[in-house]
Amino acid sequence: MSHPTTGHAAAIMFPNDKENHWSEDGELRVAFDGDGVLFSDESEIVFKKKGLEAYIKNENDSEDIPLGEGPLRCFLEALVNMEKKFHAKGLYRNCPVQTFLVTSRDPVISGTRVLKTLKSWGLELTQAFFLSGRPKGPPLSMIQPHIFFDDQKPHIDGALKLGVISAHVAYGIGYETYKGACKEGVLTNLGDK
Ligand SMILES: [Mg+2]
Repeated sequence: MSHPTTGHAAAIMFPNDKENHWSEDGELRVAFDGDGVLFSDESEIVFKKKGLEAYIKNENDSEDIPLGEGPLRCFLEALVNMEKKFHAKGLYRNCPVQTFLVTSRDPVISGTRVLKTLKSWGLELTQAFFLSGRPKGPPLSMIQPHIFFDDQKPHIDGALKLGVISAHVAYGIGYETYKGACKEGVLTNLGDK
């Protein structure tokens, strides 16, 4: 796979069968997973190959080193630039374009590097949810995004059950692990970072 920043942002979109009325409120809300979507999968590689302890040490040691760019980073930038234009007109809380980070990372253990990376990129999302491994359903139900991007199919499947139009980013070790697990008929140990 080529480096994500040299190509076009792409994902496999899944429609949902549930009817919702989220598109009728005049806003565009887009929700992104972090690792393997906005960011590269470099931290997730450490987690999946070396375990949680090595992952935590890596994130602490690399706190001031921005994460690499993921496949959807450029799309986020385009949306944030639209947000900034509305902000310049005084539209903040009622900005018609809103962006959300919904990550399984822990805010204390591994969230700092994410926030510092976004700051280094000059990209500020509307809101960020650090779930510490908890399910993504509750924040997605609250956000009611018009589309949600994640690199791990189990999260996509969960979002679809809520009626969220979701797009699977087929990139990185999370995606590769899922493919391998499918081949073996095992869907365990797929914790997303
Ligand atoms: Mg991910």
